[in-house]
Amino acid sequence: MTKRDYYEVLGVSRTASEDEIKKAYRQLALKLHPDRNPGNKEAEEKFKEAAEAYEVLSDPDKRHRYDQLGHEGLRGTNYRDFTNVNDVFSAFGDIFGSSFGGTIFDEVFGGGQRTRRRQQHGQPGSDLRIRLPLTLEEIATGVEKKLKVKRQKACDTCHGSGARTSSGRSTCPQCNGSGELRQVSRSMFGQFVNISTCPMCEGEGRIVKDQCPACRGEGRLSGESTIKVTVPAGVSEGNYIPLQGQGNAGRRGGQAGDLIVVIEEEKHPYFQRNGDDIIYDLIISFPQAVLGSDVEVPTLNGKARLTIDPATPSGRMLRMRERGIPHLNSYGSGDQLVRVNIWVPKHLTPREKELLKELAKSEHISPTEEERNGDRSFFEKVKDVFS
Ligand SMILES: [Zn+2]
Ligand SMILES: [Zn+2]
Repeated sequence: MTKRDYYEVLGVSRTASEDEIKKAYRQLALKLHPDRNPGNKEAEEKFKEAAEAYEVLSDPDKRHRYDQLGHEGLRGTNYRDFTNVNDVFSAFGDIFGSSFGGTIFDEVFGGGQRTRRRQQHGQPGSDLRIRLPLTLEEIATGVEKKLKVKRQKACDTCHGSGARTSSGRSTCPQCNGSGELRQVSRSMFGQFVNISTCPMCEGEGRIVKDQCPACRGEGRLSGESTIKVTVPAGVSEGNYIPLQGQGNAGRRGGQAGDLIVVIEEEKHPYFQRNGDDIIYDLIISFPQAVLGSDVEVPTLNGKARLTIDPATPSGRMLRMRERGIPHLNSYGSGDQLVRVNIWVPKHLTPREKELLKELAKSEHISPTEEERNGDRSFFEKVKDVFS
């Protein structure tokens, strides 16, 4: 695939200042953010494309090369290809951190601290993913949850070192502690240094001579832990919260992986979520619709009174402001939309039937021909709410 012009990608001129470039990238990144576009491959590709453009244009040296030679000019520089969304976050976390300030995104992207330090010893543990199903009520208020997680923990006996005693570890004799083997070879083009991981210590630089009997020298053991996670109000399906260092313990004292908590939304028995709005189907009787009524409706935080005006048609949407889900990234909440449905009784006594037949004869009970065909405006209104 041919690469697009980086200035075009960010939508800035070739003379744009550093600040303009940063601003343009930030706006694009916020718009194309994977959390705002779950499952949208195109947005994800554009997100990565923007990151790549920013990576080059924000660096004066790379930008200069790009200006002179285009994409060709960047060959051989240590320029990143963003194939993975997480690479974007680790590279430019500070941008997200400052613009999302104090929201879930700080937690989600750990303020850009997800890059791992190179280890002096041990091997890093792997990340774990865990699904966290939440009810709409929990999402509306935010919630603290305790999760039971099966994971590898540092061995208590040896404190993760893998050795029986503190002197049980020693520098690897094969690589002298560097963890790498260097091999110099010559060819007609000159001298090459080939670097490979030391096979004796597997890159750790140290070996365990006297193994800890509890973990057999691994420095970690399988077990179950209870982990607390704080979920802010307003999350939705697919949002995730990484808990740093809460994944699998590293081998022999290596850095622990992260625990990625993925939010799932449970189906609610009578509420439907539409963005941050909540839709509720209310069923009232025909007399209530005609004469008006005060009814009680459930909301995400308890029951509330709602007034049905006289002559309320079936299908009308009533809006209860700020009774929906709190916005995750701004102040305020969505609304609760109450859709009015008129109840049609199935079983009537002969007396009730008689009364209805009597009523049916009266002048205002049935729509006129004009009313049947003319006033469709409320159907349009109903559609508006959902579009
Ligand atoms: Zn141990
Ligand atoms: Zn070694």
